[in-house]
Amino acid sequence: MKFSLLEYERPDYEALTNRLVALKKRMEAAASYEALRDAWLAVKREIEYAEYREEIAYIRHLCGIDYEASTREVELQNAEDPAIDALRDACSRLALASPFASRLEEEFGKQVFARMAEGAVGGESESLKLQTTEARLKTEYRRLMKSRDRDEEMLFDVFLRLIGTRRDLAAARGFASYVDLGYRLRDRRDYGREELSGFRERIRKTVVPALWELKKRGIGLKEFPAKPRKSGELIAAVRTMFSDLSGETGAYIEEMVRDEMFDLESRENKRPDLWTCCMLPCLRLPFVIGDYHGGGMETAAAVHEFGHGFAFRTAAQTQPLYEYHRSSPAVNEIHSKTMEHFMYPYLELFVDDRRRDFIRDHLLQELENLAYRCAVDEFEHSVYELPGLTRTQVCELWADISRKYRPWIGIGAEEIRSGKSWPRQTHVVEAPFYYIEYDIAQIGAWEFRLRMETDPREAWEDYLALCRAGGSRSFGELLAAAQLSDPFGEGTVERICGPAAEALCAVL
Ligand SMILES: [Zn+2]
Repeated sequence: MKFSLLEYERPDYEALTNRLVALKKRMEAAASYEALRDAWLAVKREIEYAEYREEIAYIRHLCGIDYEASTREVELQNAEDPAIDALRDACSRLALASPFASRLEEEFGKQVFARMAEGAVGGESESLKLQTTEARLKTEYRRLMKSRDRDEEMLFDVFLRLIGTRRDLAAARGFASYVDLGYRLRDRRDYGREELSGFRERIRKTVVPALWELKKRGIGLKEFPAKPRKSGELIAAVRTMFSDLSGETGAYIEEMVRDEMFDLESRENKRPDLWTCCMLPCLRLPFVIGDYHGGGMETAAAVHEFGHGFAFRTAAQTQPLYEYHRSSPAVNEIHSKTMEHFMYPYLELFVDDRRRDFIRDHLLQELENLAYRCAVDEFEHSVYELPGLTRTQVCELWADISRKYRPWIGIGAEEIRSGKSWPRQTHVVEAPFYYIEYDIAQIGAWEFRLRMETDPREAWEDYLALCRAGGSRSFGELLAAAQLSDPFGEGTVERICGPAAEALCAVL
């Protein structure tokens, strides 16, 4: 069914709570493995169905459709979800503590249990209020960002209040710092602070000097137009590419087109320049959101999001549990970023004879992002660890870190004094510690890029295996299954970033 015809019905949160409480009692009283398993799966079905309904309103909200009404629904979700999540986590803890836990693990794999153990870090009532505050502030931030003339004072105020709320949340949940809680919430079991600081240092030593040289030569991004003028033509180009690439991508794109699971038009109340991919549980189909203006590099953004959608859809068809339909961004972004490189043989469809410009801008942007995201990651660590920063101190901090990773960007004293130099990066405000995972994924995507050159068939098979596995295994296990290197391993960054920089120099 077409997305526009899906009916939104608000979940009855009280009835849902009652059903979850009843299922929790059934789990407590379960005398057999089957009884526990059935109740546990029923909890998941309840949550999945509620999320499906919520997602319809959320997509409409992001697209600016029925804006007042869909925003009201999202605000209501923000208020109701923490209590529902807490009940879900309580059921997870019951499953973990149950005498039948090992049989559940045998049937559904270790990963869901490892994740439940991470999630069960004391989501008790005192932290619920803080989580609700955090969700409310994020909605407020999105509202402010939507406006074309943004109120800088208010944006910064929301950011500072979010930092404070998250620090309180960490304290309420018994963590010494929000960095520790943030890592826990991001399900980082295969790597920690040490690996990340080593990773940032390698990028600083290898990528930053290469970029600095290019900047000195005055090389920057150029703007050029795409071949598709309108979003309908862009969809047609994506369809041609995906149909040719493989049987799996072909089947996927036909479903997406059939059900019109995308919205790439600009619209009043739609956030400008937003590109994202949502997933509709139950339907097991993604929804791609974009804001297409006909720019050459916007076509890469579209293919990126359709790449996410392909991976979600593929995992949803393979994996039994909803939790396994996606992994962390460090893996999910490998899916989407690699798809941007599978795009290269089809560039004529997207940018006509501007192939060289596309490759140049694409690789340059990827390299610049590697450096920028390291700066953001270091900033995020500092901002949660240094208490009570003023606006000027936040700006000074960002200027210092920027100089390390992007010495070509001059942040002047006046900019710091006027409080303008803080990173306007949505992820910093909405999803702390998320941003660096794009960098981690970039290494995997570039490794696939190298493998496409030597053995495209094997590269595709491993890529498909990675998509099929979804989030069913840990980060390290997923990489190993796709024959990808450990991004934190000795020499990996250098071995993979070097050829990408060379490929860029070849098209300058
Ligand atoms: Zn992405």
